[in-house]
Amino acid sequence: MPFAPALGNPFALHQTASFTPSETLCKSVVASYSFTSSVFFRITHFFPFVKNFLKIFFIFFERRAAIENNKTVQTVFMKKFTAICILLLIPLCAFAAPLKSTATVTENKAIYLTFDDGPTDSVTPKVLDVLEKESVHATFFVIGKQISGREEILRRIAAQGHSVGVHSYSHCYKEIYADAKALLKDIAECRSAIRKVLRRYDKMIYRFPGGSFMRPDLRDAVTGAGYNYYDWNASAGDAEGNFTAERLYKNAVETGKGKSPVILLMHDGVGYKETVKALPLIIGYYRQNGYIFKTL
Ligand SMILES: [Zn+2]
Repeated sequence: MPFAPALGNPFALHQTASFTPSETLCKSVVASYSFTSSVFFRITHFFPFVKNFLKIFFIFFERRAAIENNKTVQTVFMKKFTAICILLLIPLCAFAAPLKSTATVTENKAIYLTFDDGPTDSVTPKVLDVLEKESVHATFFVIGKQISGREEILRRIAAQGHSVGVHSYSHCYKEIYADAKALLKDIAECRSAIRKVLRRYDKMIYRFPGGSFMRPDLRDAVTGAGYNYYDWNASAGDAEGNFTAERLYKNAVETGKGKSPVILLMHDGVGYKETVKALPLIIGYYRQNGYIFKTL
């Protein structure tokens, strides 16, 4: 059975994409600067055209001035033209940069949909159907002993472009968390089961059953064996009770609010039918809020 952590538990992102606030700020500043620069660059290149345009106008106004014997016409025209240019440029420069900056921040919002405890005959193919229909990629942390007889499902996960990670071979807490040696043996067995089906499988990603906070003392053993482990910072709560799809959707939204990246925990084990129903709603919410779907 999957461990259900209380919301707000500490979590460990051993290795994620670069999303620190300072990096985001830097990117925004650079984007603002480069966009403002490009506006001035365009104006500078536009200038010869403006100059020629003005010459024609000056000739016209000089002739009029000569005819009317009024030498101030050109000066009045220049003043008016300059004022109009400034009035047009101020709002352009003031608003263009912040708009571009906001767009950059939006681009950086990312969500990693993760599914634990598969593959299963009843749920995994339905999850894959939804992901295919929505053109979204996810990460599946699989249970090694469940692969036998479900090789086609595992192949389909990989063929659809999803990421596959090691979850456990036995998923038996008592066995795997006995000590570091037992855990690494379990991880190696799961990886071997994956590689029997996906010959080119070379990922070294792992999710502790129950999360790494189950056994923080074993984190070093996992990383020492070359794995990057990933917990979660948002959860649909589908392992915490028999919730409706609507409730799972609300959990997924509320626990991920204001976060980026979001690493969302869900399950594709036996019986998680409400997760399948909630999935299109969850994807829709994060898509509408500017999140990009990524894989670990
Ligand atoms: Zn699990």
